[in-house]
Amino acid sequence: MKAAVFKLPRSSLQLRFSIVVLLVLGAMLALTLALWFRQSWDERRTVEIARQSTHELLLRQLRESGDAQVRQLADSLANPLYYFDLDKVGVLARDALRAPNVSYVLVFDREGRILHDGSGEIAAYGRPMRDALSARIVAADTPLDLQVDGQLDISSPIKVGDDRLGGVRVGYSMSEASHAEEATLVGLRRQLSEVSRRGLWWLLLMCAGLAGVCVLGAMAVQRMLVRPIRQLGDAARKIEHGDFASPMPKATRNDELGDLIHSFDRMRDSVARHDRDMRRAAYSDALTGLANRLAFRTELDQRLREMHGAGGQLVLLFADLDDFKGVNDTLGHEAGDDVLVQMAMRIENAVRAAGETDAMVARLGGDEFVILLEAPAGGDRRGLATRLAESLVQELIEPLLLHGRRLVLGTSVGVAIFPDDADSASQLMKCGDIAMYQAKFAGKNCYRFYSHEVAEDAMRRMRMEQNLRGAWERGEMSVVYQPIYRTSDRALMGAEALLRWTHPTDGAIPPELFVPVAEQSGLIEDIGVHVLQAACAEAASWPELPGGGHAFVSVNVSGQQMRNVALFTQVTDALRHSGLAAERLHLEVTETAVIRDVTHAADLLARLRGVGVRVWLDDFGTGYSSLNHLRRVQVDGLKIDRSFIADLLEDPGDLALTSATMAMAHSLGIVVVAEGVEQRGQYDLLREREGDFVQGYWLSHPLSAMEFARLLD
Ligand code: C2E
Ligand code: MG
Ligand code: MG
Repeated sequence: MKAAVFKLPRSSLQLRFSIVVLLVLGAMLALTLALWFRQSWDERRTVEIARQSTHELLLRQLRESGDAQVRQLADSLANPLYYFDLDKVGVLARDALRAPNVSYVLVFDREGRILHDGSGEIAAYGRPMRDALSARIVAADTPLDLQVDGQLDISSPIKVGDDRLGGVRVGYSMSEASHAEEATLVGLRRQLSEVSRRGLWWLLLMCAGLAGVCVLGAMAVQRMLVRPIRQLGDAARKIEHGDFASPMPKATRNDELGDLIHSFDRMRDSVARHDRDMRRAAYSDALTGLANRLAFRTELDQRLREMHGAGGQLVLLFADLDDFKGVNDTLGHEAGDDVLVQMAMRIENAVRAAGETDAMVARLGGDEFVILLEAPAGGDRRGLATRLAESLVQELIEPLLLHGRRLVLGTSVGVAIFPDDADSASQLMKCGDIAMYQAKFAGKNCYRFYSHEVAEDAMRRMRMEQNLRGAWERGEMSVVYQPIYRTSDRALMGAEALLRWTHPTDGAIPPELFVPVAEQSGLIEDIGVHVLQAACAEAASWPELPGGGHAFVSVNVSGQQMRNVALFTQVTDALRHSGLAAERLHLEVTETAVIRDVTHAADLLARLRGVGVRVWLDDFGTGYSSLNHLRRVQVDGLKIDRSFIADLLEDPGDLALTSATMAMAHSLGIVVVAEGVEQRGQYDLLREREGDFVQGYWLSHPLSAMEFARLLD
């Protein structure tokens, strides 16, 4: 069984001190009472002793004076009694009776019979004394004094020589003595009670004084100890909650508590400093010094809270550097960091140059930056966003200097506006992200405003990207081969390897849809290697052509792949593993990929051609390649885009362009492939103008590997 835990209520310092003070006061009260009782007891004892002493004193006085009186009376009565002179006896007895305190006088004979009692008629004459003392008195030979019933009975025998004639008894009343005694005691009592009252007053005064001292002590403790300690406790609690500005007890005192307050103050400063440092570290991006994601989210949340119902507007620009991964991959992470720092500075400068001093610039991580602007209620937020986005794109495309090398990196900017596009922080960031993604799809190095329709498209692309991951490994992808013929005699010369993707539920997805997604996400790099290996392996197994020689296979290489330094090795590895002759592999690179970095492309293509691989420029005419590019980048052939071929028969302009391209290519000594031949007329025209190769549905649709192998047979 679990033992019950009793927890005593928390007692404060002041409570404890108050309890001690109360205990002291209680003890003092008890002591005072005890003293008081002791004093009254003493008083009673004193009165008792005084009473006894007074009583004895008075009794002794009465006895002494009585003894003397009675002895004198006995002497005086000796003669009258001897002569039995009753008159004389009577005179003496009456005189004696008149003396103070005397209550009776009895003169008796030898046998104890009363002879005289001082009265006139002597009613008791001749009667024997019958009281309790009489027998002893009559028998006594010497004077006696006896006490009975508040009376002192003093007797003396009356003798003449040795002859005892009788005796005399005088009764002294003690009541007067008692009165005197009482009177004395009353005075004594009065004095004593006076003394004790005074003592009590002193005691009470002392008590009150002590109680006052205790209360003052309690107040002093409260003021000097409890209150500062409480304030320290409060300050500590506030520090715990991050409030470093709470008031502290005054630290002017020069004692232990003052030392404690000083130490506490210093500790608070140091904790505040640490807190500031930690916050700074937690809220800023170590690389660029910009605010980080946490700081940005905190700021965004706060601004949205402040804006709630106030009608303000927020503009969020979401900037992502284009192809930054390539910088890291090719030039290393240090160079990547350098790029990020330079770009961060440029973004800040662009924002300041636009006069947006209140804007917040943050790095969310990687190559993602955000800018948060506040637009006045009813202001032209779109105009503001457009101006800034434009200047950002312009500023950031300017060449960077990286260890002496020039590097051009574009930036895609997405713009989202509160409250038009989103009503919460996370929604706004998501919209900005989607708009940025949209800018990437629009060809990068541009800006796009968030739009709901576009967002849905972006969502579709994102879903597709997820589905694309591992699609090759799951066997959802395959390669088909579209035959390529010699124009002059329609002899089969080779095939273009084309990627196909069949999603388990969505079915066949056209390359126009998924290839851009694969390129944008970088997935094309892995998939491209698989296509290259598969195409090389397949081509290596093809039989010899009827006219002698072997069919070539042309493989599409995206710009993304071209920027990968590993491409060259991937190509040579694929050739080695498959055993395919290098001359039989053609790589189709797009104009746009070449133009992006002509120097790099020229270098790479030269190395590939150096090992015997042929290079064709795909989709020729759709990009902006100039003859100048063609001069710098050596290729083996051009593939005229099918858009030119499609209108060849109707559009004289397209015919002129195609003819000119072919003439120019021939003059440069390179071959021309016309793709997208769908009609006989197109083919005839191309043959007339001496095009080298043709490819198109009129000749053959893309075929599966097996079908193509059968065609070769
Ligand atoms: P592309 O490299 O220009 O490929 C030629 C495209 O034209 C192929 O479309 C082909 O089927 C189509 N075509 C051929 N003859 C005709 C015709 O007479 N009429 C019409 N309308 N079209 C014709 P596909 O296979 O849909 O590929 C589209 C694009 O996808 C390709 O254009 C290429 O840029 C890309 N792609 C395909 N496979 C790969 C690949 O393995 N790697 C890379 N990086 N891109 C690929
Ligand atoms: Mg192609
Ligand atoms: Mg093409």
